Amino acid sequence: MPVRTGKQFIEGLRARPRDVWVRGERVADVTAHPAFKRPVERLAGLYDMQHDPKYADVLTYTSPSSGKPVGTAFMAPKSHADLVKRRNAFQVWSEATFGLMGRSPDFMNTVLLAFAEAKEVFARDGQKYADNLIKYYEYVRENDLFLSHALISPQTDRSKTSSEQVDPHLHMGVVKETPEGIVIRGARMLATMGPICDEMLIYNLPGLRPGDEPHAVAFAVPVDAPGLRQICREPYNWGERADYDHPLAANFEECDSLLIFNDVLIPWERVFIYNNVNLANALYPDTALRNHTGHQTNVRAMVKMRFAVGLAQALARSVKTDQFLHVQEKLGECMSYVELIKSAIVRAEFEHDVLPNGHVRTTLAPLQALRGLLPTFYPRVIEVLQIIGAGGLLMTPSGADFAAPEIAGDVAKFYQGADGFPSVDRARLFKLAWDLAGDSFGMRQLQYERFYAGDPIRILAMTYLGTDDRDYKALVDRAISIAGNP
Ligand SMILES: Cc1cc2nc3c(=O)[nH]c(=O)nc-3n(C[C@H](O)[C@H](O)[C@H](O)COP(=O)(O)OP(=O)(O)OC[C@H]3O[C@@H](n4cnc5c(N)ncnc54)[C@H](O)[C@@H]3O)c2cc1C
Repeated sequence: MPVRTGKQFIEGLRARPRDVWVRGERVADVTAHPAFKRPVERLAGLYDMQHDPKYADVLTYTSPSSGKPVGTAFMAPKSHADLVKRRNAFQVWSEATFGLMGRSPDFMNTVLLAFAEAKEVFARDGQKYADNLIKYYEYVRENDLFLSHALISPQTDRSKTSSEQVDPHLHMGVVKETPEGIVIRGARMLATMGPICDEMLIYNLPGLRPGDEPHAVAFAVPVDAPGLRQICREPYNWGERADYDHPLAANFEECDSLLIFNDVLIPWERVFIYNNVNLANALYPDTALRNHTGHQTNVRAMVKMRFAVGLAQALARSVKTDQFLHVQEKLGECMSYVELIKSAIVRAEFEHDVLPNGHVRTTLAPLQALRGLLPTFYPRVIEVLQIIGAGGLLMTPSGADFAAPEIAGDVAKFYQGADGFPSVDRARLFKLAWDLAGDSFGMRQLQYERFYAGDPIRILAMTYLGTDDRDYKALVDRAISIAGNP
């Protein structure tokens, strides 16, 4: 099958009835449920773009196995031009959602590409695992499936490893193996888009310790596998939010879920790592996982930062606070973050690593720097939006106020902006900003940018510990030698 259309994506979700719970109720059809309908439609829009002549060339490439168009995120880059094509594909999809859907399908497709390119890592425990992985990569690519993932264990007791928890099957792990496969029990978090995806790819962040063997597994599982349950966090939009009043929350909410495995059978052909702590911990350092995902996620974050900074600028202009020096200084600060992000992405492509097989990949250091610093940059931009928007972020009429004859005149008059900027336009702008910088939707977006790539504290510590410090040291040593003795 070539790339799917939005309609095919939605039909695919309907074809896999899943055990999804939200606000204490089991969801009969995620494509029709008020909490998920709009995000499903937005994702469907991304799939449709793959068929739009305007975007098809950048969003797809020719499958090496079927000769049909498949998603660019699966494409193993072999040149700088390929890396630029991949960036353009990430950017086109990100702009369609203003960077607000962090787990659009291309994200997990880059994960699979990184794993497929590092098949020898999976083969360390037996060729069959590498073969499984390659077949799965091709299966997802050729069927254009939408994957989610859940890498971490629930926050029960972080001072203990998974194997030390009060119940050995609290954190997801293997209970037993059978001739058919392995049986999985326990919980994992946090599957963004889990309720509305096709399959889950399960692996882990590094940090497993000896004794954690049952938890050291990697596998894929369809979302409708018997025994797989999802409990969603409370949605921020229950279908009642109007486009005018909550333009972002009404359209772009990514659902998140806790995965519970109630003795789920994973057939052997979908197992990629089994009972191997060293291998499970090696996925980040020994594959190009961070290089490829860092490319996609930072392009997406760059789009979101441009959007947030653009909103801050529009707010200021609408009431002419942009003439004040400190507002200009803050907007300049935010625009500088955007420039730094763009530069780091281009540098990661330009200074790409060349692998022995001729494939290339973005170089890691600038992407990791962004991973460590975006959790500071993005919250700062949101803070600037709050400072510039001030009371106006709260004091916006609801869409219904414009339609109420008795107050419509007041609303038109007292909510206008500078130079006669109409109140309906000013309110629309400030509502966009409130959705991003104040409302529950925006606070989840903030939490996402802080944590989606893992704990930012440990990311920056890893940057320190993993950096080749010879260059820093050489300069200081030379200066010391100049200083000489007292
Ligand atoms: C909106 C959102 C969407 C997400 N989507 C996904 C997804 O799709 N898939 C997925 O797998 N994950 C997802 N994540 C989860 C993300 O990977 C984690 O939030 C992140 O790895 C941090 O883990 P944690 O939340 O368990 O925090 P914890 O690891 O429990 O950390 C909590 C606090 O304690 C500190 N701490 C805890 N343990 C240590 C330690 N050992 N050393 C030092 N400090 C420590 C941390 O610094 C932090 O301040 C998402 C998270 C968010 C917020």
